[in-house]
Amino acid sequence: MKAFEYAEARTEAGVLELLSAEPGKTELLAGGTDLIGLMKKMIVTPDRVVNIMEIPSLKVIEPTAEGGLVIGAAVTLDDLLENDYVREYPALVQAIRGINSMQLQAQGTLGGEVCQRPRCWFFRNGHGLLAENGTLAAEGDSRYHAVFGNQGPAKFVSSSRTAPALIALGAHLRVLGPAAEDESFLPLSEFYRAPRQAGQREHVLEPRQWVTHIVLPPPGDQHNATYEVRDSEGPAFPLAAAAARLELAGGVVRQAQIVLGQVAPTPWVSQVAADVLRGLPVTPATAEAAGQAAISEATPLPGNQYKVQLAKVAVKRAVLLAAGLETGGF
Ligand SMILES: Cc1cc2nc3c(=O)[nH]c(=O)nc-3n(C[C@H](O)[C@H](O)[C@H](O)COP(=O)(O)OP(=O)(O)OC[C@H]3O[C@@H](n4cnc5c(N)ncnc54)[C@H](O)[C@@H]3O)c2cc1C
Repeated sequence: MKAFEYAEARTEAGVLELLSAEPGKTELLAGGTDLIGLMKKMIVTPDRVVNIMEIPSLKVIEPTAEGGLVIGAAVTLDDLLENDYVREYPALVQAIRGINSMQLQAQGTLGGEVCQRPRCWFFRNGHGLLAENGTLAAEGDSRYHAVFGNQGPAKFVSSSRTAPALIALGAHLRVLGPAAEDESFLPLSEFYRAPRQAGQREHVLEPRQWVTHIVLPPPGDQHNATYEVRDSEGPAFPLAAAAARLELAGGVVRQAQIVLGQVAPTPWVSQVAADVLRGLPVTPATAEAAGQAAISEATPLPGNQYKVQLAKVAVKRAVLLAAGLETGGF
């Protein structure tokens, strides 16, 4: 590990004073479950690490005046699971439960979960996020790589488990910086991007910008769910996942949000899947049609064709689960 300076901020304003305007020179430390591993492998080599876990305002879970919820970036995943307000958002709870690891849930934070780096094995073995302009994944072992949105050099999958649920639920991020007076509220759906050139991050934050809170709108009627297709029950990342939020009226879908996870360099919002459901009741047949529509946009790589079927199943079962129906299968 490269020698680095450890700094601890006690206030939100104090964080900005410690962050560098130069990319890669400073990193925020939350639970550290992702960052420390990357530093040990010298994939990330900051000069200074800024601990944000001692800032009281980042530890809150509070209802908003409109009936929504504000969650501090340093709230742990376990604290979220124990919170009564959070239970009003089943898609988020199910996504966190999917992690299925006492250690990661006790130590990992929601801010860190949303901002974690991609799990791409080329990236994690020192080849960079774009891994020779995408050729390593395209011509090599792509079994865990993207099946949507992979036409550019980015072939990795966005690894956040909670992001598809949070996007389906309409979450915003409160972002501070780069200047001391800068505060913005960014839809989470606009936070992620597929980088196109070396040095670009997988999200839109500039150096000296950071996330303080995740803000959720009112929970509504709670017709939302996350469904993950995994190859084991351990703390392994899903092969494909989907979150669905439905607005139902008179037994039919008025509005739907379908967001896939682990299949594209960003969480993948499937408008075509949502369109299929509008005006129809949720049944196994309409849920299947939504899954089929979602995969009409798939562009698998030579080694990951199998993920297309898994993505279809994830969408179908997330829709059924959101509507309170049996998903079938395991
Ligand atoms: C062995 C192992 C197995 C894992 N398996 C799984 C798994 O199966 N499923 C799963 O979902 N996750 C898994 N993870 C990942 C882990 O759950 C997440 O990485 C964790 O939730 C991240 O939270 P953290 O607080 O520890 O983040 P950190 O490691 O502290 O931070 C992660 C990244 O986000 C940045 N960051 C943190 N907070 C902020 C903020 N407020 N604003 C801007 N940037 C920020 C950091 O600088 C860093 O780049 C695994 C991790 C390990 C080490």
